[in-house]
Amino acid sequence: MVQNVTLTDFFPMNIRLTDLLNLPGVAVESCHYSQDSVSFQLRVLTKGTYCPHCRNYTEELHQTRPILVRDVPVDSKEVYLKLPRRQFYCRVCQRYITERLQFIDWRRRYTQRYEEKIYSQLNRCNIEQISQQQHLRIEQVKNIFNHISQKRNKQHLEFSQKSYCYER
Ligand SMILES: [Zn+2]
Repeated sequence: MVQNVTLTDFFPMNIRLTDLLNLPGVAVESCHYSQDSVSFQLRVLTKGTYCPHCRNYTEELHQTRPILVRDVPVDSKEVYLKLPRRQFYCRVCQRYITERLQFIDWRRRYTQRYEEKIYSQLNRCNIEQISQQQHLRIEQVKNIFNHISQKRNKQHLEFSQKSYCYER
């Protein structure tokens, strides 16, 4: 049984859901429930973005593509976020730039908090157990594990380089 509840016309409820979701720079537009999952249609609050190459602010939207991102479960239901991936045009560099959202690492299909959660579960469960619980393929769990490990190594390296600089 699939129950579709659209809350677009029900503004106070959407504000409440946005608060509950607690992700920076986005708002819930609508929400769809099924027996084992919840998906949120999100809107990005800013009109434009800063160019990563020249720091110019641009609102020249070139194209928008919908992406689906996995987030941490709520009440043992799988959570999915439907987001626009926006591409802007920077007149200064004459380049197309893809917006980066704070809570998703570059080119990932999971929120940072979901990847961190999976990574921390690997202390207690093995890859097969997580794969079954989360309905992720074994390769997906391994991929998350590798991504977070590499990220932590990089952060650790940056941190030790910084402390080395301070010591001198
Ligand atoms: Zn630029």
